[in-house]
Amino acid sequence: MFKNYIKITIIAVLVLTIIFEICHIVKMNIKPQEVTDEVVEATVVPEENNIPVVSGSTPDPQTETKTGQKIIVIDPGHGKPSSLMSDDEKHTYGWVQNTSGAWGEWRHYKKGSSVVNCEGSGCNGRVTPNGACWYPIGNGDRNTEPDINLQNALATKKHLEAMGYTVRLTRTSNDENPSITKRLSYCHPDNDASKAPDAEVFVCIHANASGGSGRGTAYITAEDPYDQAWIGAGYASQSNELGKLCNDYIADMTSLSLHGNGAIAWEPELIAFCKSPVPCGYLEVGFFDNSADLNILKTETDKIGEAIAKGVDQFCKTH
Ligand SMILES: [Zn+2]
Ligand SMILES: [Zn+2]
Repeated sequence: MFKNYIKITIIAVLVLTIIFEICHIVKMNIKPQEVTDEVVEATVVPEENNIPVVSGSTPDPQTETKTGQKIIVIDPGHGKPSSLMSDDEKHTYGWVQNTSGAWGEWRHYKKGSSVVNCEGSGCNGRVTPNGACWYPIGNGDRNTEPDINLQNALATKKHLEAMGYTVRLTRTSNDENPSITKRLSYCHPDNDASKAPDAEVFVCIHANASGGSGRGTAYITAEDPYDQAWIGAGYASQSNELGKLCNDYIADMTSLSLHGNGAIAWEPELIAFCKSPVPCGYLEVGFFDNSADLNILKTETDKIGEAIAKGVDQFCKTH
């Protein structure tokens, strides 16, 4: 009888221990789950509010505008690879889905518009060779280039601000990848493309690649016809003037040579040209896949920024 009592006690203790352990394990499983949810929420919420948050990490582009200062939009090309972006992120950064569900953006607005995408018709129809009005998001993915562009853009911003300009950057980190349409919205008050643009110019900063054989700095030329809203008759020639000014200063002030005669004439259908409401300078600063150029890009960033700023300043003072 006494032995049975001990047995029952031992079994009871074991059962209680097992129950306690189960409770503990359940608790442990619940806790990390709660933490995970909080983390997910913390990252998802800012992404959904991208515009204020992006401007929250830097001053709001609109509020930092000082009275009387001319506004320059500087666009560091590319950014976070599309494969690393969630659908929410793509949506927030201005990418859209076509009828097949693929992510990308439309190359044009309908003729005369600054808000209605062409969706394949009602535009100037200017497309890449063998291309289409649709631009798939993955076409903009790059590895080395985003940070080079960002550093050159930050240097340009510094020098333009010292010259008395207000500068809006279309991205401020390599963790962002706005669509070109979204980047161009910085030319307008409150990123509202239905309002008349308040920026003087839009400057795209890129670096080139050619499989190692190319060298030097270049700008891409615009070529009529363009038919988006807000642009004047001189849009293409002014865009080329702006690109040439910046590029010539880069060749003068840094160790980068001119690439050919400095002008790349075979990409007038770039989305930036097709949708910008203001003159658009499109720079391909050096070749990042050429070791000599890459070394210059990494060591002469400040001079590159100063050169671009001088080009922009000269353009603004003569228009
Ligand atoms: Zn189109
Ligand atoms: Zn590029």
